[in-house]
Amino acid sequence: MGLPVVAIVGRPNVGKSTIFNRVVGERISIVEDTPGVTRDRIYAHGDWVGHEFSIIDTGGIEIGDQPFVKQITAQAEIAIEEADVIIFMVNGKEGITNADENIAKILYRSNKPVVLAVNKIDNLESRADIYDFYSLGFGDPYAISGAHGIGLGDLLDQVIANFSEQQDDKEDDSIRFSLIGRPNVGKSSLVNAILGEERVIVSDVSGTTRDAINTKFVDNGQEFTMVDTAGLRKRGKVYENTERYSVMRAMKAIDNSNIALVVLNAEEGIREQDKRIAGYAHDAGKGVIILVNKWDTLKKTNSTQRDFEAAIRAEFQYLSYAPILFVSALTKQRLAKLPELIKTVYDNHGRRISSSSLNDVIMDAIAITPTPSIKGRKLRIYYATQVKTAPPTIVVFVNDVDLMHFSYVRYLENQIRKYYDFTGTPLKIIPRSRK
Ligand code: GDP
Ligand code: GDP
Repeated sequence: MGLPVVAIVGRPNVGKSTIFNRVVGERISIVEDTPGVTRDRIYAHGDWVGHEFSIIDTGGIEIGDQPFVKQITAQAEIAIEEADVIIFMVNGKEGITNADENIAKILYRSNKPVVLAVNKIDNLESRADIYDFYSLGFGDPYAISGAHGIGLGDLLDQVIANFSEQQDDKEDDSIRFSLIGRPNVGKSSLVNAILGEERVIVSDVSGTTRDAINTKFVDNGQEFTMVDTAGLRKRGKVYENTERYSVMRAMKAIDNSNIALVVLNAEEGIREQDKRIAGYAHDAGKGVIILVNKWDTLKKTNSTQRDFEAAIRAEFQYLSYAPILFVSALTKQRLAKLPELIKTVYDNHGRRISSSSLNDVIMDAIAITPTPSIKGRKLRIYYATQVKTAPPTIVVFVNDVDLMHFSYVRYLENQIRKYYDFTGTPLKIIPRSRK
């Protein structure tokens, strides 16, 4: 847990998004289980010879309507803050520009490893063009061509060589969770409220190679790690108002957690951006809890909570499994219950059910609602088995996957959820054909 982060920086048009898409490959266009949730194209997972990482295209992060120089400065700063390794990309056809030199200056001041990529070296003849770039001061330039996919292997080898060895604090028994949400929903206030006096903070563990500081605390004998809380507490609001930046931060925090707490603002209701952020938590297959914060601000009647809950269920249909807690960072209302709820969701997320018990449940389900037929061919379900936890993943062997309609999968999921407590966790059900 806690993938290394690679950020690509460089001025516009050098080929950052071309390379990003190549590195991410088909992964980004894989069909999502959730209709309507599209992935942001600035943050994704990549892997190279078995090394997994997250990759950011900082060029996709536009800071308001700031002038050009400010934009790329901010992007370089984001790369320094977020990344373990930075790919600094320049255009081999154009040579070094002032903008390149400005970026280089910002990168020098960081302690992050920088790999220099000279793009648009489309053929052997133009390889000679890369030598000028030694003067940027980042060692050997790597010649690549995003257009033709040349040189990427060597570049990625070098990137991976810079990943730090230690992957420290993952192998403990603590439950890792993060608070995600739009700016101003109250994430940092919640962090402070949760870490209130009554809980002992075990230690501030610097997150491996990252700058993120994770905070550990113990509640009722269970250790918890709050991911990236220092980032929440210390960082200014400079970039945060940029939606793509806050979405990217959320995705990174989700990656490093077992459970994502999606924070909504009771005062403002549900916004489009809330849905996108919640969609990432769901897609990542993590446990999810919805917190409606600032509950103190509403004048309540006896239907206020019910109505709010109904609105959430309608707007976040794919999160029907997520428990909802109405809280206040200000008054600490219901926050004492939170660790216990996180623990429950964590247990459910890691739940393993025996095949014999699972197949009993499935056979009962089929008895209640027989499998459908399509064009005279009947769906047959032979056997189901849980292949993975976190999230629980169940493979169902059938005569023909084309006969296994989405609605029947949904039905099976609902039946399974009736028998086992999977509150707070997505369930993956994968049909497989077997003759
Ligand atoms: P970004 O603004 O840095 O993300 O740059 P893009 O990835 O959008 O690329 C800018 C332009 O350069 C596009 O027209 C790309 O097709 C083109 N381009 C990207 N990589 C290469 C390359 O290796 N060779 C050539 N000739 N063109 C490229
Ligand atoms: P973040 O940007 O999500 O980290 O949000 P902050 O924690 O900085 O909170 C934004 C604003 O909302 C601050 O002025 C907080 O004092 C206020 N706030 C946060 N939580 C609550 C709450 O539960 N009730 C009320 N009334 N205000 C809150």
